[in-house]
Amino acid sequence: MKFGGSSVADAACMRQVAGLVRDALQAGTHAPLVVLSAMGKTTNGLFAAASAAERGDLPAALGQLKELIQSHRRAAEDLLDDSVPDELDQALTDAFGQIELLLRGVALLRELSPRSQDAIASFGEQLSTRIFASFFRNQGMAADWVDARTVMRTDGSFGGGQPDIAALRGLAKTHIAPNLDAGRVVVTQGYIGATEEGLTTTLGRGGSDYSAALFGAALQAAEVQIWTDVEGVLTADPRIVPGALPIPCLSFSEAAELAAFGAKVLHPATIQPAVEARIPVTVRHTQKPHGRFTTITGEVRTGRSVTALASRGPITVLTVSSSRMLAQSGFLARLFEVFGRLNISVDLVATAEISVSLTVEADAPLKALIKELSSFATIQVAEDRAIVAVVGERLKYTAGLGSRLFGALADINIEMISMGANEINLSIVVKREQEHETLRRLHAALIESNYGGGAA
Ligand code: ADP
Ligand code: ASP
Ligand code: MG
Repeated sequence: MKFGGSSVADAACMRQVAGLVRDALQAGTHAPLVVLSAMGKTTNGLFAAASAAERGDLPAALGQLKELIQSHRRAAEDLLDDSVPDELDQALTDAFGQIELLLRGVALLRELSPRSQDAIASFGEQLSTRIFASFFRNQGMAADWVDARTVMRTDGSFGGGQPDIAALRGLAKTHIAPNLDAGRVVVTQGYIGATEEGLTTTLGRGGSDYSAALFGAALQAAEVQIWTDVEGVLTADPRIVPGALPIPCLSFSEAAELAAFGAKVLHPATIQPAVEARIPVTVRHTQKPHGRFTTITGEVRTGRSVTALASRGPITVLTVSSSRMLAQSGFLARLFEVFGRLNISVDLVATAEISVSLTVEADAPLKALIKELSSFATIQVAEDRAIVAVVGERLKYTAGLGSRLFGALADINIEMISMGANEINLSIVVKREQEHETLRRLHAALIESNYGGGAA
């Protein structure tokens, strides 16, 4: 059971979570593993404190820390009726002391390495899990707090640690499985891990979903539950498309495409460990546990052609032209070799006779890229664009989809179009300022028109 930041934002939320965990404990044959995110926007606060320290603004950094200390102490006191056990009090004091030391170190050096960044960011989950575990035990239930860094082994890619699956499996068997088998709930952190040498790493922003799937696969869980603030995966981001509908069933591939193309409800890497272990993932609303939810599994049989939409921006479109070279063999190899060497990942590609268009992240090192590519091609750059993805298992069988899509966007300029090789994703590129309008129009034309309310 993984609970995201909004699900553990304050004492009231944590009480709700404790109730859900207790229900699962009483209903199941095994105790659940509880994976928590940091409380509310704590991780953002830690990032802000770290960058203030890097600027040399220690007062601002310590000011941020003070707010975090207050909100965490307030939650602990509220949950534990002002009699915070010594053990928790000491753990909180130690954690706050360590964050302060790290911030002072960063401010002195005015240097924030990815390694220091991870060390600082990791405290959000350490704090939330300490408070929750203490509260849960205080309610008379058997629970153990496990430091994820003793189990979630990663490589040393700070800011985006790559898990060592074999090591994780072994460590989970030793440090987590016996407790669960004995009917004891285990509370651990999402997002964080450690290298073999014991250096703290993170799996990247939003990484708690990924942690949950990795732990679930390592423990051969029956299900991975992602508890959040929406009734499952919806047909579009509800903040952009108010009429977005809940989706009862989603295939692993659809979910993976949606996550990769910007549906924030799942971290893009979440699905892969679950797919490999064939473990269903459900996405549920913490405040409406008996409401609708989404089940993501290998096979989904539905008649719907378009399952959902997602979008991501800003991105940059590069159009690479070379009248001399494109028709010759080896051009694309040469082109992609440059991207590979500069470690720039490409999302969409569309080729024409004398040009290739590709999309890259807005923060890709464009200068270096253009310098290298200009030696054999002409480059046009279009910044501030967005990718809008239409996802559905049955897309490829749906006649007339193109005309409905173009019809809905008659006055919006589609700058690039690409059908994913797995044929379940049709993506277009539009100007960033038209991203939301594009989503709303496509939702009306491709999804609402089919379902007319209710669930997709
Ligand atoms: P958590 O803190 O639980 O990890 P997130 O904020 O990371 O939650 O993800 C949940 C949010 O994702 C929702 O509140 C919603 O605004 C957003 N979201 C984006 N796309 C979708 C979608 N297709 N379905 C559901 N939610 C989505
Ligand atoms: N707390 C981390 C973040 O905000 C991880 C997560 O919540 O998934 O990015
Ligand atoms: Mg999230």
